[in-house]
Amino acid sequence: MKNIKDYNLEELKEQLVLLDEKKYRAEQIFKWIYVDKVKEFDEMTNLSLELREKLKENFTMCNYKILKKQESSDGTKKYLFDVLDGNAIETVLMEYHHGKTICVSSQIGCKMGCEFCASTGVKFVRSLTSGEIVEQILAVEQDIQDNISNVVFMGIGEPFDNYENVMNAVRIINNQKGLNIGARHISISTSGLVPKIREFADEELQCTLSISLHATNDDKRSKMMPVNRKYNIKELMDACDYYISKTNKRISFEYALAKDNNDNLEDAKELVKLLKGKLCHVNLIPINKIDNGKFVKSTNENIIKFRDYLNKNGIVATIRRELGSDIDAACGQLRRKKLENQEEE
Ligand code: SAH
Repeated sequence: MKNIKDYNLEELKEQLVLLDEKKYRAEQIFKWIYVDKVKEFDEMTNLSLELREKLKENFTMCNYKILKKQESSDGTKKYLFDVLDGNAIETVLMEYHHGKTICVSSQIGCKMGCEFCASTGVKFVRSLTSGEIVEQILAVEQDIQDNISNVVFMGIGEPFDNYENVMNAVRIINNQKGLNIGARHISISTSGLVPKIREFADEELQCTLSISLHATNDDKRSKMMPVNRKYNIKELMDACDYYISKTNKRISFEYALAKDNNDNLEDAKELVKLLKGKLCHVNLIPINKIDNGKFVKSTNENIIKFRDYLNKNGIVATIRRELGSDIDAACGQLRRKKLENQEEE
């Protein structure tokens, strides 16, 4: 059966026509799901009984069940959802002064193999459909009985390795008749799939693009992120320049600081050279240590020195506040633990 949340509004209209129904019914259904946030077709009371039956015969609502929920002392909540086929995905909710931000997964597992990431070493299963991405938002909103204001694609998976479904999820999230979360409140993070960065630039969306950079030369970056062997830093920077010229939007470069690996002054100098003159911002992340991880978090002193060097040299840099570290909120950690426990059982 088809998941009704996989369709954007235009596609849903086509689905209704296929069922010999009027297109405007799609708008009513869309409102029930994304504005009124109902969970069952029977709750859509302005639809005839006959139409509700038709919908039940043809579609599922794909409502997630919470397998596990952890709450941090700082308010961060981490969810493990059953995606209804026996697989589990993680979603994190963070509270900032400007609102509630949800960090969604785009795939079950990840193929990118970054050395420092908890998703590495755990098998890749499949990409999520757009409905499965969107449902993470609805399920969390239902749990907290509140609306979410920002969405970041920084959970498990590489969003640009699931490009079409991620873009369609963005259309549903962004639609004024849907979840109505403004494109400026949606961020997509990529490890650097160059052709997709260019394709994304051509969409001319107002979403924020984040690039997981983490190192400033090919030697070091290839050791941390295998994707760099396919698309090196030069190709990545060219694609970033293309994105900036097409959209006139600032790119956010993610840089996870690991002690004695990429956190000394030489690295900061190289980073300045690489980014000088670009419309960008650097997000410094104290690296989260993962089990068996080779990387250790930089000292606070080094992190601050690194930031100050960038700022003094014309690159705007901020240190990301660490949220939820007491509940393994870093991406992939909960799913990894679940799979490890299954293996032990
Ligand atoms: N695949 C995408 C999005 C998922 S990861 C990407 O690579 O951008 C979201 C962010 O968390 C990325 O910047 C990633 O590099 C970072 N990250 C992964 N593991 C981390 C860790 N152990 N510590 C700090 N940041 C980490």
